[in-house]
Amino acid sequence: MANFGKRVPENVSGDFFVDSTCIDCDACRQIAPTVFGEAAESSFVKAQPSSSTDRRQALRALLACPTGSIGCLGGDDVKAVMKDFPLVVEEPVYYCGYNSPKSYGGNSYFVRHPAGNWLIDSPKFVAPLVRQLETLGGIAHIFLTHRDDVADAERYAEHFQSRRIIHREELSSQPDAEVVLEGPGPWELAPGFVAIATPGHTKGHCVLLFQDRFLFTGDHLDWDRDQRQLSAFEDYCWYSWPRQAESMRRLADYRFEWVLPGHGQRVHLPADEMRKQIQRLAKAMKGE
Ligand code: SF4
Repeated sequence: MANFGKRVPENVSGDFFVDSTCIDCDACRQIAPTVFGEAAESSFVKAQPSSSTDRRQALRALLACPTGSIGCLGGDDVKAVMKDFPLVVEEPVYYCGYNSPKSYGGNSYFVRHPAGNWLIDSPKFVAPLVRQLETLGGIAHIFLTHRDDVADAERYAEHFQSRRIIHREELSSQPDAEVVLEGPGPWELAPGFVAIATPGHTKGHCVLLFQDRFLFTGDHLDWDRDQRQLSAFEDYCWYSWPRQAESMRRLADYRFEWVLPGHGQRVHLPADEMRKQIQRLAKAMKGE
């Protein structure tokens, strides 16, 4: 629970505030961009919500915050907002919310599918979300992009009897995973679901392509809101930047319209524009 006495000085006064435990994960700025802004080392409330829509988004951010750093002094019915998660991105894809501090506030996603639902990376294991996922039919498959974002995958797998899928090179983070991807891939995991190896950020990093439309990118790439272009994080590349650049180049062979990252902003673009963006980013990463 956020501590009003520890609120950061940049907050504008009003019901909502961010305190100094914020880890600057960006989740609140993605969920409620009109309310939360970016200070030097944290988020802050740049404008108090002025409409019921903004207030709802701010309360969703409060629930999604991995560190409980967002406070609200109003008498809002937060329990009612819990029912918003998982939140539809575009049917049948949802954003889970309840970002975990174990993944440094990484985003996770849920795909509703008649042959069994999918979880991509893991949110916190919390009762309100678990109940909602039960209502939606549970989780048959958990795809883990890489070692950093496994969070509570083991607890979800145990609860829902799901099969966890991860690359051999990331297995130390999830040693009991039921499905281990070997070699360079790609792997058709089920009709419409293709795992693609994208070594770079980590050695066994993989992304998941669903229906040639949705690409779950883990920490391989995201959307830079300020530059309005796809981006990758050299400062957070733990294995090999040249390998990550080569993985990016190969990604241009695939068709997709959505980039759904673990860390950073998601984006929806026409497929041809997305391909041009990927090609531009791969060249920039190679210094061309
Ligand atoms: S979601 Fe929480 S931890 Fe993340 S930037 Fe916002 S206040 Fe900070």
